[in-house]
Amino acid sequence: MNALMNNYQPLPISFTKGLGTRLWDAAGNEYLDALAGVAVTNVGHSHPRIVEAIRDQAGLLLHTSNLYIIDWQHKLAERLTGLANMQRAFFCNSGAEANETALKLARLYANRKGVRQPLVVVMENSFHGRTFATLSASDSPSCQAGFEPLVEGFIKVPFGDLIALQAVTQTHGQRIVAVLVEPVQGESGVQIAPTGYLKALREHCDTQQWLLMLDEIQTGLGRTGRWFAFQHEGIVPDVMTLAKALGNGLPIGACLATGIAAQLFGPGSHGSTFGGNPLVCRVGCTVLDIIEQQGLLANAARQGQALLAGLREALGNHPAVRSVRGHGLMIGIDLHQPCRHLMVEAAQAHGLLINVTRGSTIRLLPPLTLQALDVAMIVKTLRALISSDQSLVGAPTIDSPSR
Ligand SMILES: *Cc1c(COP(=O)(O)O)cnc(C)c1O
Repeated sequence: MNALMNNYQPLPISFTKGLGTRLWDAAGNEYLDALAGVAVTNVGHSHPRIVEAIRDQAGLLLHTSNLYIIDWQHKLAERLTGLANMQRAFFCNSGAEANETALKLARLYANRKGVRQPLVVVMENSFHGRTFATLSASDSPSCQAGFEPLVEGFIKVPFGDLIALQAVTQTHGQRIVAVLVEPVQGESGVQIAPTGYLKALREHCDTQQWLLMLDEIQTGLGRTGRWFAFQHEGIVPDVMTLAKALGNGLPIGACLATGIAAQLFGPGSHGSTFGGNPLVCRVGCTVLDIIEQQGLLANAARQGQALLAGLREALGNHPAVRSVRGHGLMIGIDLHQPCRHLMVEAAQAHGLLINVTRGSTIRLLPPLTLQALDVAMIVKTLRALISSDQSLVGAPTIDSPSR
């Protein structure tokens, strides 16, 4: 009997306890969590300072509504805008809602400019969430199938392709008001934008007077070794969305804006009942404290490099492996053959939790607290699993990165 709707396909395992980089199942088996709840528990499970912040705040105050001033919301907004060099924040409860907020800003911007049928440029293979606007902005047939009619107003170009952007500028430039892009496409298998791409997008948006809107829901908050992935390119977007790691497991999303984009909302134009309550905002501040005080940006950069180098050395020339990519602690290993259940379950049997996206890409998103011994364990386990699995080595089929 299953009283849940049938939209997930969970693995037959459940965890009862977590601490740092480790999880335990009911039988007491220990696992290295190299997925971190899909880039959520970035400072590790049950971090004592987070546990303390939740306990203390739960005993003080959970919710009052946005009809009143919420001090922790102001604090978190000041911290985030300071780190991002942006001006204002809006808080919600998930990534999809953060992107909805960004898309609503784009519509208001169009309205202000007098653009009647506005378009937002989005990328092939993007993922922005499951609400109607965000699934319409995503390039994922499986998210969209059956939910038509989709929300209008998106135009798609290949990720990383500036020539294609020039082409849509020629054909639709008058209607375009914004570009929405992930600095690294996570759900579609850790696709990393070419160096200079974000900077070129920034320049193009400046020239065209479009908003540059970055979806940093997966890449933000230290994942790539900087607070935000855009900081690798020395730019600042007009709008940025955050969620996943911001609450380390408590639901919170944020949309940051600067310049004209920070001025578009007025009283009543947007809102959320739960958004930015004292509990989640205090935990958000605590997450930022921990990242700062434990030096987790530097650790993510260092361990990310070590993990990428280790995996490339162990698997770079393996006949089953197409490529090994990474940006900080966001790592993808493309295999030639589909490997979903095989790899995930085999790794789990060896005490390692990983993820496979798009059928044949192993995705690693370990916590930012990862240590050298954990890196060694991941490399050793994946090398052993990939080498011992004959079904992974076959004639490479026709080249298509996203099978
Ligand atoms: C996870 C994710 C989202 C959606 O976030 P939810 O909290 O599941 O709504 C949007 N964009 C990116 C890049 C993501 O990784």
